[in-house]
Amino acid sequence: MVEQEKRMLVVMAHPDDETFGMAGTIARYVDEGVKVHLICTTNGDVGAAAPEMMQGYSSVAEMRLAELACAAETLGLAEVYTFGYRDSGMPGMPDNEHPDCLVAADPDVVVGKIVKVIREVHPQVVVTFDPYGGYGHPDHIATHQAAVKAFDAAANPNAYPEQIVAGLRAYRPQKLYFTTFDKTWLRFAVWLFSLMGHDPERMGRNKDINMREITGWETPIHARVKTGPYRQIVQQARECHASQLGGLSPTRLSRMLSHLFSGVQECYMRACPSVNGGGPEHDLFDGVVPGD
Ligand SMILES: [Zn+2]
Repeated sequence: MVEQEKRMLVVMAHPDDETFGMAGTIARYVDEGVKVHLICTTNGDVGAAAPEMMQGYSSVAEMRLAELACAAETLGLAEVYTFGYRDSGMPGMPDNEHPDCLVAADPDVVVGKIVKVIREVHPQVVVTFDPYGGYGHPDHIATHQAAVKAFDAAANPNAYPEQIVAGLRAYRPQKLYFTTFDKTWLRFAVWLFSLMGHDPERMGRNKDINMREITGWETPIHARVKTGPYRQIVQQARECHASQLGGLSPTRLSRMLSHLFSGVQECYMRACPSVNGGGPEHDLFDGVVPGD
C-alpha cells in the first residue's frame, strides 16, 4: 500500500449507478490523484435494453457490464469489482424471486465480499446509497445495508477471520458517505407533474416509483461536491451507458433540476463520523489522514 495515497471505495448496485449517481465526484477525485475503486454488486440484468443495443451480446448482463467497463475507463477508475448477483428488479417484479438475485443472497456473504475489498484496498472514504436506495430499489437498499455493515466489520479482526488468516488485516476506513440529492427539486417536480395531470405516486417506466413518498425520506445533505469542470467526462460516461439513457428516475430528475438551478454539484449525507452541526463540507476527504 502506497503511503500518503488517497483511496475511495464506491459501493453501488448496478452498472450505471456510479455514473448517474456520482460520476462528477469520481472524475474530480481521479483528477486530484485519488485511487477510486468501485464495487458493483449486480449485473443489471433487469435494465431495459432496446434490441439494437443487444447486437454482439448474448445477454443484458453482458451488455451492461461492457457499458460499465467503458464508463470505468472514461472515469479513470482504479479497479472495478463485480459480485455477479442477478438484478432483483423493483418490488413486485418476478425477478425478486430469482434464486441468484442480490436480495435472495445471504447478507453475511455479501458483507464479507465488501469487507474483503475494504481490507485489500484500504480506502479512507467509502460511499454507498442512502438507506432508501435513492428511490427504493431493493438492490440499492440491500447494497447500502451490506456496505454499512462492512464498514464496521472490516475493522474487526474477529469478523471474517478467514480473510485475516489468508493475510489481510483488519482496516477501518475514516469516513462513510451516502449519495443523496436535494429533495427541494423533487418536491418541485412532484408539484409540476401533478399540475400536468400525472400521478407523482406512480411514476417510472413500470409506474412503481412513488415520488411523493421519496420527498418524505429524511436524507440531510452534509457535503456538496462541486463537479462543474468535469461536465464533459460525466457526459462521456453517460454515453457509455447508452442502453440506460432513456430512463428518468426521481434521483436523476432531481439532480438535473438541481444542476440547472443551483450549479453542478453532487450531494452526500455523512454517516461516519457523525455530523455535529457546522456547515456543509465541500470535500469528502476533509480531515482525512492519508496513508494506511
Ligand atoms: Zn441502480
